[in-house]
Amino acid sequence: RDIRKSYYKNQIELPVLRGVDVAFHRGELSALVGRSGSGKSTLMHLLATLDQPDSGEVWFNGKRIDNLSRRVRDSYRNQDIGIIFQFYHLLPELTALENVLAPAMISRSVLGYLRERRSLAKRAEAMLDRVGLLERRGHKPSEMSGGEMQRVAIARSLMSEPQLLLADEPTGNLDTETGESILELLQQLNNDDGLTIVMITHDDAIASRADRCYRMQDGLLVDRLKDSPRKASDNANKAARLIA
Ligand code: ATP
Ligand code: MG
Repeated sequence: RDIRKSYYKNQIELPVLRGVDVAFHRGELSALVGRSGSGKSTLMHLLATLDQPDSGEVWFNGKRIDNLSRRVRDSYRNQDIGIIFQFYHLLPELTALENVLAPAMISRSVLGYLRERRSLAKRAEAMLDRVGLLERRGHKPSEMSGGEMQRVAIARSLMSEPQLLLADEPTGNLDTETGESILELLQQLNNDDGLTIVMITHDDAIASRADRCYRMQDGLLVDRLKDSPRKASDNANKAARLIA
């Protein structure tokens, strides 16, 4: 609600978000398009609680999350909100399976991790299977294709059973066909599990396949390009059933 955010460089203010009002609906796959520099990633960082707005409010599941302590904001990101990026952000020294496990390891105490080690490893394998990469579990990032690395990143983001997945140019570094297959995987997660997804993209063909599409321009949302409230309520019901 009325999100404003400036960056400061050499004491010069650079307003990047200038009063953004937007609602991403439960159970939908939404796309966010716009020119380079229009503020898309900045907005996504605020949704992900990676950063805080100068003013305005961010709400998630009926709770305001922008003004919480660092620790509580981090726990939202660890548990309820998953994120994937254009360049995957995998750890190069770790295998696919270890990459999927890494956040679960880091967010637990040593003892807590040891106690849950077996079930976490099992769950990590199930997530790799979900994205079709179980047989690559022992591969390091340098031994995988871009599309495979993005699948590992998606599997990693699913470990905590997030309700919301934020994707910043998830197909931006992939050829058309591979990008298409990543989009299909996201659509599957959205359709089968009712996972809410917000995806930034430069690709109009990909944006056109989202349920809802918003365009950003110079720090403002200027257009709602597409709307499909019917599917939203279908999927919200699905998500509610899953939670129940
Ligand atoms: P792209 O499509 O190229 O990824 P974007 O829409 O995601 O662009 P942002 O990354 O949100 O754009 O950046 C918006 C503006 O804010 C840009 O002009 C950028 O230079 C500036 N900016 C982003 N991050 C910072 C930062 N940490 N410090 C200073 N300026 C920044
Ligand atoms: Mg960006």
